[in-house]
Amino acid sequence: MNEIFDIVIAGGGPVGSALALGLRDSGRKIALLEARAGNTAGVDDGRTIALSQGSRLILDRLGVWPALATAATPIHHITVSQRRAFGRVNLDAADSGVSALGYVVRYAVLQRTLAAALVDSGVRVMEGHTAQEVGTDARGASAITATGERLAAQLIVVADGGTQLKMTAVKTRDYHQSALVCDITSEHVHQNRAYERFTPEGPLALLPFAAGWSLVWTMQPQHAQALAAVGDKEFCARLQDEFGASLGVFSAPGRRDVFPLALKYATCPVAVRTLLIGNAAQTLHPVAGQGFNLGLRDAWELIRTVVNHAGEDIGDNAVLNSYFSQRRFDRIATILFTDSLIHLFRKNIPLLGGVRSAALGALEVLPGAKNFLARRMMFGARG
Ligand SMILES: Cc1cc2nc3c(=O)[nH]c(=O)nc-3n(C[C@H](O)[C@H](O)[C@H](O)COP(=O)(O)OP(=O)(O)OC[C@H]3O[C@@H](n4cnc5c(N)ncnc54)[C@H](O)[C@@H]3O)c2cc1C
Repeated sequence: MNEIFDIVIAGGGPVGSALALGLRDSGRKIALLEARAGNTAGVDDGRTIALSQGSRLILDRLGVWPALATAATPIHHITVSQRRAFGRVNLDAADSGVSALGYVVRYAVLQRTLAAALVDSGVRVMEGHTAQEVGTDARGASAITATGERLAAQLIVVADGGTQLKMTAVKTRDYHQSALVCDITSEHVHQNRAYERFTPEGPLALLPFAAGWSLVWTMQPQHAQALAAVGDKEFCARLQDEFGASLGVFSAPGRRDVFPLALKYATCPVAVRTLLIGNAAQTLHPVAGQGFNLGLRDAWELIRTVVNHAGEDIGDNAVLNSYFSQRRFDRIATILFTDSLIHLFRKNIPLLGGVRSAALGALEVLPGAKNFLARRMMFGARG
């Protein structure tokens, strides 16, 4: 079967699905290819996503926030510190004049909510269809699925998470770290406070989630695999040792998932009649929870571009370049922000430890500095 669309989106993860949803009333014929079958029914993925305030606004405009809000835990305070060293910074929603600094939601719930909103939206959703190849020339583009279907379009948007379709040159930096992720509870309740603690092996985040915590613990890959396999009691004791006693005793860890971490980014996410967005354009370290939030801003800017160029050839080079000129700064700034955090806090050098303590201390006391950091976390580099 050969079908003709205006835009074909390859990848129906949270970023591709958000884009499809935002384009539903654009007057364009849209197809969304998702490799997984049963995307609507749910995804088996234990990670949670810390949504920024900016993402909440976008999800609200897409009409899905009311459904998500019931499953999201607001973050009212964030404490950033380093293990066994001075210096910490406390961010508060009230100081920034917002009701929450962010919201923690399960990846699978985010995915399911977006997929459900696409049902009967007019977008042609093709679950269980993997885009295997993308062909482009100056006149048109096409995506060919694993079953041999060819979908022609003016523009192919690659939102496959950076896993399969190799469209442009990609730079990779292996962090030699993995994130161990699980739910856990503690003796003291979270009071909507998130913790980000930097350790020599990598950052450890405890995000308030439902009645307990969502743990994202970064460390050397072999340590993460070993820790994923120990008994619950030992796991809690190891976390206690790393995090300290301020939350009381940890207990009841849930299923542990391990994610290998690397920085991967397309040197240029724009090619002939092709755009890469979300993790396909840049896959970041989860420190500071920026990846989805950045990808959602990619999707939102593309929705605005399509609306602003109604009736035009949406795959035209000039249109794609106008999109990218709006995204360039936020993208590079966010990549550098997360990458620098990892490098600054990873080295166990005494002098650097002093610099880090001073930096955290300065952030805490300098007027404007904390607000800058809070706005960066909430709205990205252009916030
Ligand atoms: C441990 C961890 C914690 C994180 N925490 C946060 C956080 O707190 N805040 C935050 O903002 N970000 C966070 N992130 C990052 C976030 O998960 C990603 O940025 C986000 O999932 C990217 O969404 P995406 O839709 O671009 O890609 P993905 O979520 O990877 O989705 C890609 C989709 O494409 C489909 N697909 C793949 N190949 C094809 C193909 N060839 N054809 C069709 N479909 C295909 C896949 O099945 C999938 O559904 C975290 C990441 C990790 C690993």
